[in-house]
Amino acid sequence: MSYDNDNIFAKILRDEIPSFKVYEDDYTLAFMDIMPQADGHTLVIPKFQAETLLDIPADELTHTMTTVQKVMSALKSTLGVEGVVLLQLNGTAAGQTVPHLHFHLIPEHLTKLSGHGAAMGDMEKIKALAEKISEAL
Ligand code: 5GP
Repeated sequence: MSYDNDNIFAKILRDEIPSFKVYEDDYTLAFMDIMPQADGHTLVIPKFQAETLLDIPADELTHTMTTVQKVMSALKSTLGVEGVVLLQLNGTAAGQTVPHLHFHLIPEHLTKLSGHGAAMGDMEKIKALAEKISEAL
């Protein structure tokens, strides 16, 4: 595996570009998607340098899924949603656009999602949602 250390999420992890963070620990980071498919669309990434699900050791994946679970719980309690879509793409052939492993948490019904990475969201709205979600974490 050749990991591209200049991908956008690697830069977010190094704080080289800004993001609306909602949770961080030694192994993982959760932050808002800036082209949300629904209000509250959040991304969870490992700090481990993995491009796809096949590139991460099991113990690192366990930490990542623990954060996914925490964030999903916070989304449900803060946004009052009943359902959350968990989406994860592997490889450009599957539509993956950022080559750092990430899990999409999208608080909406699958049939109501807007286009994948299609349009920039309202930054003020995303910021306000991030504050609300991070308070619950
Ligand atoms: P993928 O297509 O790789 O599964 O998803 C990449 C996601 O990253 C998309 O949902 C897209 O909206 C999001 N994204 C792309 N660039 C940025 C960025 O600079 N900041 C944030 N927070 N999200 C981004």
